[in-house]
Amino acid sequence: MSLRSWGASRSCQSYCGYHNHAGSLYYAVMPYPSCDGCLGGMAVFDALTCTSSHELCEAINDPVPGSGWYDDTHGEIGDISAWNFTHVAGYNVQLEWSNQQGKCV
Ligand SMILES: [Zn+2]
Repeated sequence: MSLRSWGASRSCQSYCGYHNHAGSLYYAVMPYPSCDGCLGGMAVFDALTCTSSHELCEAINDPVPGSGWYDDTHGEIGDISAWNFTHVAGYNVQLEWSNQQGKCV
């Protein structure tokens, strides 16, 4: 399930979170993960920190979606490594793609 979306699509149907901008205001949206597709077998809090880390990284290096770090085949930096997790300071976070290392880190 995509972790990115725009427009009229709905959470838990076509996305678990997304980021976008309104002028120079950059924002991300993380709906409550009330479905298996967005929980991914995790506790609610872990699913939320995972989605938040995904969208935060993408909001930093592709703040205007599609105009920054963006791969025409795979999408944004978090999309390539979607659903690959690790723990940082006790929080569940998603790995992100590294061109330099050629893998999710
Ligand atoms: Zn994404």
